[in-house]
Amino acid sequence: MIMDPIMSLDTAMFTILAAHVGLTIGTLSRHLHARPDLKPLLNSLLRFDTVGIYLLTERGHGLDAFNVETTATTTPHGFVLNTPREEACKFMPASTPLFGIPKVALVMARLLVDGHDRGPRFFIVPICNAHTMYTGVQSIRLGPRPGTSPLDFSLTRFTNVHVPHTALVASNVSDLSPPSRPLDAWWDQVWRIPLGTMAVSAPWISSIKAAAYIAGRYSMHRSLVGKGTQPIPIITFRTQQWPIAHATAVAMVMSSWYPIAIKQCEDRSLDHRVRHGLAVIVKATTCRHFQRCIPEVAERCGAQGTFEHNYMARIEASSSQKATSSPSASGSSPSSSSTATQSPSPPSDHSLLAHHAHSLLSENLSLLASLPGGHRSPTYNSLILPQAELAIEAMGHALAYAAALASHVPQPILDVYESAVIRRDPAWYSEQGGLSRVQQRLREDAAVTALMPHLERYLDDLDIAPYVSAPIVSDEGWKTYYASLDAFSGDATPESEQVQAML
Ligand SMILES: Cc1cc2nc3c(=O)[nH]c(=O)nc-3n(C[C@H](O)[C@H](O)[C@H](O)COP(=O)(O)OP(=O)(O)OC[C@H]3O[C@@H](n4cnc5c(N)ncnc54)[C@H](O)[C@@H]3O)c2cc1C
Repeated sequence: MIMDPIMSLDTAMFTILAAHVGLTIGTLSRHLHARPDLKPLLNSLLRFDTVGIYLLTERGHGLDAFNVETTATTTPHGFVLNTPREEACKFMPASTPLFGIPKVALVMARLLVDGHDRGPRFFIVPICNAHTMYTGVQSIRLGPRPGTSPLDFSLTRFTNVHVPHTALVASNVSDLSPPSRPLDAWWDQVWRIPLGTMAVSAPWISSIKAAAYIAGRYSMHRSLVGKGTQPIPIITFRTQQWPIAHATAVAMVMSSWYPIAIKQCEDRSLDHRVRHGLAVIVKATTCRHFQRCIPEVAERCGAQGTFEHNYMARIEASSSQKATSSPSASGSSPSSSSTATQSPSPPSDHSLLAHHAHSLLSENLSLLASLPGGHRSPTYNSLILPQAELAIEAMGHALAYAAALASHVPQPILDVYESAVIRRDPAWYSEQGGLSRVQQRLREDAAVTALMPHLERYLDDLDIAPYVSAPIVSDEGWKTYYASLDAFSGDATPESEQVQAML
C-alpha cells in the first residue's frame, strides 16, 4: 500500500494512513492472539469506521519521547489518564472531531502503581465520536503549516479520563511489573516506529519519479528560438540535462533498493537495533535525495515550476516536513546511531561508493576511540555528531548502488547516480578516491552524455505517468488546462480622457 504512487499525491492522506494502519493497527495486531477482546476495535479500524491515532510524543518530549510525562494511574476499575502540565500535551496527531469520524488513540503514558512509576506504556483511549470530544479529552488545533495538505494537527490533553483494565496495550493486562531494562522495554513498545520510519520514504521515491518525469517531458517540448530559425528544446542545455538525469537516476536506484531494504527491516534474524539503524539509513538517504532533486528540477521548469498545479512546489513544501515525523528522524535515536555501523553494507571494494562509506565510518570510529569520554563526551558532540549524517547517507548511497547493480539497472543510470553522490563529498573523492576535481567533472560529463539518448525511455520506465496531472508535461495537456482556467472578459471601452489622465 505504502509504495503505491498515489501516496505521494496527498501527504495528509499519507499521514492519516501511516498512523492508522502502520502505527495503531500494527501495534494492536501483535496482541490479537492473546487478546480476542481487541477484535471488535481492530475490525472497526480496518473498516475505517474509526480512525486510529498514535499519541506518543509530547510538546516537551519529541526525540526524547522515552521521557513522556502523561500519567496513567491505576484505580480499582482500570486507569485514569492525566496531562500534568502543558509540556505533556500530546503533539501533533489530528485529534479534533472536525472530520466527522470517531477517533481512538494509543496513548503513551507513565504507568503509576501505588505511587510508583512503572515506565511508559500504551493505553487505548477513545478520543471523539463523529461529532464531539469525549469527557476529559481536549483537542487544541494547531495553526496551519504553509504549503501542506490540510490536516487538523493538534495538541491533545487528558483530565481524569477513566479507561478500563483492558485499555492497557499488552498481551497480559494484569502484568504491571516494572521492566528490568526500561529503555529496551520502551523500544519494544514502539516497535512500529522503525517500520514507520521506512514507510515515510516510499512517497518521496514516487515524488522524485514524478518530478523527473514532469521536468523531463516539459524540457523536451518547451523550446526557445535563439539566433537561428529552428526552435531549440530546452533539454538541449546541459544545465537542464543534469538535474533531470540526476532525478531520474536517483528514482531508479532508490526504487531498486527500497524493496530489498524493506525485506531486511522485516528480517527477524537481524538484531532489531540493526533493523532500526537500516530504517534510519533509508529515511535519511531518501530524504536528502528528495530535498536535492525536487527544488533543482522545479527551478529548471522556470515560473511553471512554482505553481501548485505543476506538483513540484507543492510536494516540496508538504513532503519536506515528513523529515521530522518520527522520534528517530534525526538518526540520533538511542538505537540507530550506535548500531548503524552493523548494517548490512557492501564490502569496501564493492564500489567507489562503498569505499567512501567504509572510509568515513573508520575515520569516525578511530576518532571516537581516541576520545577519553567516549560517545557521551562533549568532544563527540562537537566533532563526531555533526559527521553522522554524512556517514549515514554514505552507507545509504553504497547500499542503494549495490541494490541497483544487482537489479541490472542500466549502466548510464548507475554512472549518473555515482556522479551525483561524488558531488556530495568531492574532497574525499579527490583526496582518497583518486579523482581530481577535473576528473570528477569529466566523469560526470561522460555519464550524462551516455544517459541522454535513452532519457525518454527511462522516463517511461519510471511508470509514473498515470499519476502525473501537471499540465506542463505536454503541449496538449497545457492547452486543455488553459481552456479550463477562469478568464475575465468584458465589453468596456476606455474613455480617451481617462487614458490621457493615466498616462
Ligand atoms: C507530519 C508529522 C506527523 C507526526 N505524527 C505523529 C504521530 O502520529 N504521533 C506522534 O506521537 N508524533 C507525531 N509527530 C511528532 C514527531 O514524532 C516529532 O516531531 C518528532 O518526534 C520530533 O520531535 P520534535 O518535533 O519535538 O523535535 P525535538 O525533539 O524538539 O527536536 C528538534 C531538533 O533538535 C535536535 N535534536 C533533538 N534531540 C537530539 C539528539 N538526541 N541528538 C541530536 N540532535 C537532537 C534535532 O535537530 C531535532 O530535529 C508528527 C510530526 C510530523 C511533522
